[in-house]
Amino acid sequence: MQQYPQFEPEIDENASLDATAGCFRAIGLAMATTVLALVTLILGIWAAINVPPLTAFDNLPPEEAVGRVVTVALDDIGETPGVEPAAPAEWYPIDDTVNVVYTGVLERAFDLLRATDEGARLFDVLVENDVLVSVEELPYNAGYTRTRWSWYGWVGSHIVIDAESVRSRNLDTLAAILVHEAAHAERAITGEACFYEETCDTLPNGVELTEEIAAHGAEARFWQELFGADGKRFAYGSDSGQNRLLEAWQKGDTAFASFVRSIRGDDREGVGI
Ligand SMILES: [Zn+2]
Repeated sequence: MQQYPQFEPEIDENASLDATAGCFRAIGLAMATTVLALVTLILGIWAAINVPPLTAFDNLPPEEAVGRVVTVALDDIGETPGVEPAAPAEWYPIDDTVNVVYTGVLERAFDLLRATDEGARLFDVLVENDVLVSVEELPYNAGYTRTRWSWYGWVGSHIVIDAESVRSRNLDTLAAILVHEAAHAERAITGEACFYEETCDTLPNGVELTEEIAAHGAEARFWQELFGADGKRFAYGSDSGQNRLLEAWQKGDTAFASFVRSIRGDDREGVGI
């Protein structure tokens, strides 16, 4: 007879919050304005050559169709990554509930993530451990990873990406957010995460700085692999946020820790999650 523990395992819940957090979001809003102007221009050109611009998306709510066009437009702005996206994967760790528009964008972001060795390894970690990505409207954070664990260790992780971030950010930034969240998931799965032993340096707003330094570090390394040590040229909006992250990371552990502390101290961290 199989023995069961006398008590149900105690499940503690932990939310490891965000990727490129809200301080980049304000810049992102400015970027969105620029992008909307570009989209208007693109739509105008399409109209001029008499091709209905949203034909491919006409079964979608207008804001999502526009979001898709924004992403396509953004692909063509700024320096192109120095690595080619990987060939499509057989399967992507994306929750079935995700709208097909977001699934398409996330898959392309995952292909870019898989173009680097660390990204490809993180992708495999997600697939092998059934860590799925879903999409929700989040008021502040660009994404978060929720991990459940018991006294036996890791139970499961789930990644949530902000819908607006999928709609409005370009693929390289979205891929960097996925790297960040996948790094959280990996540390939880391997038992490295600070919350198991309660050794986290935690900010007053609840952000576990120890985990964020690790995840933002993975994000910075990914950005460097895409664009080199000088970051992305012609960067704006969330791209310039990624450049600043890389610059801080290159200055060493102490400078990077202090940079992460400065971008993650906002009281809105974790709101609505
Ligand atoms: Zn994080």
